[in-house]
Amino acid sequence: VPTSPHGPRGHQQRASRDTGSHPPASRVDQARARATNLALVARTVFAADPPPTRADVAAATSMTRSTVSRLVDDLVDGAVVAELEPVAKVGPGRPGTPLVPHAGAFAALGLQVNVGYLAVVVVDLAGGIRTRRLVTDDLRGSGPAVVLERLATEAAAAVADLPPGLEIVGAGLALPGIVTTATGMLLRAPNLGWSDVDVPSLFDTARIGVPVSVGNEADLASRTVSLVSPGHPGALRDFIYVSGETGIGGAVVIDGLPLPGRHGWAGEIGHVTVDPSGPACSCGSTGCLEQYAGKRALLTAAGLDADASTTALAERVRSGDDRATRAVDRAAWALGWAVGGAINIVDVPVVVLGGHLREIASLLRPRLEATLRERVISAGWVPPTIETAGADPTPGAVGAAYRELERVIADPARWIDARPGTSG
Ligand SMILES: [Zn+2]
Repeated sequence: VPTSPHGPRGHQQRASRDTGSHPPASRVDQARARATNLALVARTVFAADPPPTRADVAAATSMTRSTVSRLVDDLVDGAVVAELEPVAKVGPGRPGTPLVPHAGAFAALGLQVNVGYLAVVVVDLAGGIRTRRLVTDDLRGSGPAVVLERLATEAAAAVADLPPGLEIVGAGLALPGIVTTATGMLLRAPNLGWSDVDVPSLFDTARIGVPVSVGNEADLASRTVSLVSPGHPGALRDFIYVSGETGIGGAVVIDGLPLPGRHGWAGEIGHVTVDPSGPACSCGSTGCLEQYAGKRALLTAAGLDADASTTALAERVRSGDDRATRAVDRAAWALGWAVGGAINIVDVPVVVLGGHLREIASLLRPRLEATLRERVISAGWVPPTIETAGADPTPGAVGAAYRELERVIADPARWIDARPGTSG
């Protein structure tokens, strides 16, 4: 049984059909109808689990078997969809050919600048990570021009190493601050010490051959939770993502997508005040969540070196070290106050911990859970739950690549018709 195509709730797109009883549509209308139907079929195949057959796609989209077959042929020829070996089905009828995302033709670059590293990944349309380049460095107080030049060099090297036939459709850049995606401006990344950075003027896109679109790190990383692979929804669709790095980023995810807010700056849970008389924050405020639960702040409060690992922190807590236990407790409280406030406002009672918060989730959980139950007004009816993100070390970069690949699934006609040797 195919899953229904992923899309806005309650919105089922109908296929347009040429029944022959109406005057022929203009060529433009026909091309538009074909593009819409290709997108519908692609979305259905990418979202389905297990892989659907043509008959499954026809049933899910209310299109005729012959229309679906023609569209699937185009997607297979265009290397957006691939066919598996036919499998015999239960009951009468011919064996069906399961359809899956094609992994060998389209890919995207995911780039990330973090306070502690630069990352470049190449992700194919099926979600496979083809390349990952990770350069660890302390980038606090670094110069944007130099860092973006280094990133472009890494990205160009990744592109040069690609297997033949794999086309890069776009590049996404995850940044740890507030950004304006439309202009590519990074307004402020407090922990890098960057402000008003015009990314397009500093990142030489000629070196990778595709434009770069910027995004907030946590917003992009949240896609690795809401999606199993490009176009394939995961089990969690509504949650508050808390990204633990040097700072704390966040995203409120509704129906799989991060809530942008008026300017695209929503979700900055790291700069929610949990104690107005607390320590000064790099954002200019005081007592922000990240001053308690950010990695450096937490490790320092625990009496460890700011660059120590969370494993070292966990060992101290398990050995009964007072200072480390108090620091973790305080981080869990601070998280509970900030996230609890957010749940009261947006009614999304699932929190997903990423980054270093994921690594110490079992230490945070008891106090965080208790604080959420105490602070969230609806907790008696729907107790907030705590989940952990996957272990990918650069989820912002992977999520940025997913966002680029989603454009292929949303409009496959644009990509397959431009492929050499493919006629429209
Ligand atoms: Zn702050």
